[in-house]
Amino acid sequence: MDFNDKLVFLPLGGSGEIGMNLNLYCCNGKWLMVDCGISFADDRAPGIDVIVPDASFIAERKDDLLGLVITHAHEDHVGAVARLWPDFLCPVYCSPFTSEILHNKLTEEGIADLVDVNVISPGSSLVLGDFKMDFIGLTHSIPEMQALMISTPYGRVMHSGDWKLDPDPVIGPVSDMDRMSDMADGDVLAMICDSTNVFKSGLSGSEGDVQDSLDELLGRIKEGRVAVTTFASNIARVCTIAKIAERHDRHVVLVGRSLHKMTEAAKKSGYLSDLPQFLTEKDYGYLPREKVLLLCTGSQGEPRGAMARIASGNHPQVSLSAGDTVIFSSKVIPGNEKTLYALHNELSEQNINVITEADEFVHVSGHPARDELEKMYETVKPQIAVPVHGEARHLAEHCELALSLGVKHAVAINNGDVLQLAPDGPNIIGTVPSGRFAVDAGGLTALDGEFLSTRRKLVFNGAASALLVLMRKGVSAKIRLSVCAV
Ligand SMILES: [Zn+2]
Ligand SMILES: [Zn+2]
Repeated sequence: MDFNDKLVFLPLGGSGEIGMNLNLYCCNGKWLMVDCGISFADDRAPGIDVIVPDASFIAERKDDLLGLVITHAHEDHVGAVARLWPDFLCPVYCSPFTSEILHNKLTEEGIADLVDVNVISPGSSLVLGDFKMDFIGLTHSIPEMQALMISTPYGRVMHSGDWKLDPDPVIGPVSDMDRMSDMADGDVLAMICDSTNVFKSGLSGSEGDVQDSLDELLGRIKEGRVAVTTFASNIARVCTIAKIAERHDRHVVLVGRSLHKMTEAAKKSGYLSDLPQFLTEKDYGYLPREKVLLLCTGSQGEPRGAMARIASGNHPQVSLSAGDTVIFSSKVIPGNEKTLYALHNELSEQNINVITEADEFVHVSGHPARDELEKMYETVKPQIAVPVHGEARHLAEHCELALSLGVKHAVAINNGDVLQLAPDGPNIIGTVPSGRFAVDAGGLTALDGEFLSTRRKLVFNGAASALLVLMRKGVSAKIRLSVCAV
């Protein structure tokens, strides 16, 4: 395939699925990567937590890769950098908050000193070869989400990242739609856009409204402890909880590693500075019950999350008892229903009050509903719509929506499809290898390969035996482990 004399869009992750975003642009043979994220494994990959995209196509062309730009710090956009960067060796560009999160990940992987991470001020610009990028701040459920207006000799592409139009985001500025309109200037070739909530009519709702609702709700809870669990990366929600706790004379105790890490990164980037200090698990035992507001990880019922451990009485410092209240300030991510309902039941059986988004207004999504998508199309007016960040059904619906709004072309593509945007686009000119790798203790292993297929068989139909030969003094002389699938 010839990549010269054209502008191409090529997703290696995130198209036809929600998660694991890895997008490539190619202009005259030089490549730009936008985002490099992970997915979380399900029951089909026993023993596996994390999945990364197969990026071998771009790894083989790393000399032509100009850089990696990260739109925001969610795992599905930044989570695979530490694992895959050694295959790319390219400079990385991201906002101050995203760089804090990335730095932690690179440090854990032991490569923080090797990676050239360049901090880009939100709303600024960057030139890499033929790609001139203007960063445009859009609201989302994490600070500093930056959309990219990418100008090339073939025209402009708006890469939306994950976004919503929140009139009161609690943290950071509102979406900069004036700059979006100025930059678009009625002349945008293509928009690569978030499809997550394309089936949701109306608006996604505001963090400010969630704050009012949680404030009123907390005012009604006069007795016992209150625990709130939410996504640790939603710094606006963390801020909301800290503010309403102060108003209702409760101290916020942070429980869970990722909340400590996220709030630390937020403070380093200048957020959460005007709030009372968070207390830690160690302070918990000294506080009267009605003065406590626990802020916990584990909103999806993750077994290692704080909420599940507290509910089962397995947390070393924190426990709840009858008359206390737990608020799930989060949505149920599809696939997690069983685990979460079991957790709700476990709490209810202990006479702990459980409040979820089914009972009260305690959560809003970070992705655009249809009215917001319409507003974005009205502002950007692209000639070509390329929906991403969605499963096949989301992408198909998003294409229909775009066409109904007067966009000339709308194309749903899959990971690995090479979409020529210009000249003479849109046109799928070929397909390159794409796929998913499981992150296992020994390294990366193909998700549909023999290793995991054997492991799957073992789970249902296998046997494991251990032979241990002991010497007279009890010291092991020989260990043999064997597993077999039948
Ligand atoms: Zn995302
Ligand atoms: Zn996101």
